[in-house]
Amino acid sequence: MRVAVTGTPGTGKTTATAALVDRFDANVEADTSTSAVTVDGKETVDELTADDICHLNDLIESESLYTDVDEDRDSVIADMDALESVVDDRAPVVVDSHLAHHLPADRVVVLRCEPNELARRLRERGEAAEKAHENAESEALDVILAEAVESHGLESVYEIDTTERTPDDVADRIVDVLTGEREPSAGTVDFVGYLQ
Ligand code: ADP
Ligand code: MG
Repeated sequence: MRVAVTGTPGTGKTTATAALVDRFDANVEADTSTSAVTVDGKETVDELTADDICHLNDLIESESLYTDVDEDRDSVIADMDALESVVDDRAPVVVDSHLAHHLPADRVVVLRCEPNELARRLRERGEAAEKAHENAESEALDVILAEAVESHGLESVYEIDTTERTPDDVADRIVDVLTGEREPSAGTVDFVGYLQ
């Protein structure tokens, strides 16, 4: 079972997935009805350790899995083939990255955030105003959601609006996807008003 956690930079993927192991334990202990079931013929997850969570952007840096460096954007161009084989070898359950939906996955979680709040979060993280604005526009245009649905189909995509949720709340909702307690949902979020 592999769950991709994707979304525009700043939606809180790394923060929420870092909280996942603790929240998984808390949820599964609290709810004895949560056990390995199958959803759409896919087995769900009944255990989770830190090794099961892969923060892809750290891996890209530490293993130099890029083909080019974009000096202007202060970013790298990931080597997707190399990334896919490293992820296959490590076989994590959860892959955290804005690129995660470009890799094979059983379920795809797309984290969403209202664009003004997204820009605020990115500025708070120390990103340049221009980069924050670009990402806010991309979020309003549903770019990553559309890519995820195109690659994986509506039946595999789970949208979670993080705008007014704490990272732990978001992690709890990702746990529900892992354990099969959540139905797929795409197109439930609408930030197009930001563009008007
Ligand atoms: P991503 O990995 O999607 O790029 P991060 O996890 O790095 O996003 O979070 C971006 C910024 O937003 C960080 O400064 C983080 O502290 C903050 N943040 C993350 N999740 C939330 C949330 N649910 N509510 C408010 N702020 C958040
Ligand atoms: Mg991140």
